[in-house]
Amino acid sequence: MSAATWLERAESVLAGAGKKRGGARRAVLELLQAQTCALSAPEIEAALAAHAGRRASRASIYRVLDELEELRLVQRVEVGQAMARYERVGEGAGHHHHLVCDRCGLLTPFSDPELESAIRRLSTQVPLHVHEHEIVLRGECRDCAG
Ligand SMILES: [Zn+2]
Ligand SMILES: [Zn+2]
Repeated sequence: MSAATWLERAESVLAGAGKKRGGARRAVLELLQAQTCALSAPEIEAALAAHAGRRASRASIYRVLDELEELRLVQRVEVGQAMARYERVGEGAGHHHHLVCDRCGLLTPFSDPELESAIRRLSTQVPLHVHEHEIVLRGECRDCAG
């Protein structure tokens, strides 16, 4: 794996795919690069609005997120009924998976070295050249389970 950041990789993949550059896109990329876990589109909009000169419309944020998802640069995690959260895809430092509460939408990151080694072992045995993996465990969080 090269030392390029996710942001650098994303810029070059987007350029290679002929996607139009724009201020909103750069702002979304920089924000996602700085996150440790997934954000919803409204959270991204609010975070950008909090930075002077970086306001981006929700429509342009969704367009950027769609492009990033289409190019497998972000992972979309469905939470709750009509909510999704987005985070950069990467197998390097900070690689983790998610617990999702189907009742309240709470998303919690987790990581587990044994799970990672099990996936690595499995990846050598399946008829697929594995580039990445994502694990989502769904259920009820402690608060919702009562
Ligand atoms: Zn995450
Ligand atoms: Zn819950």
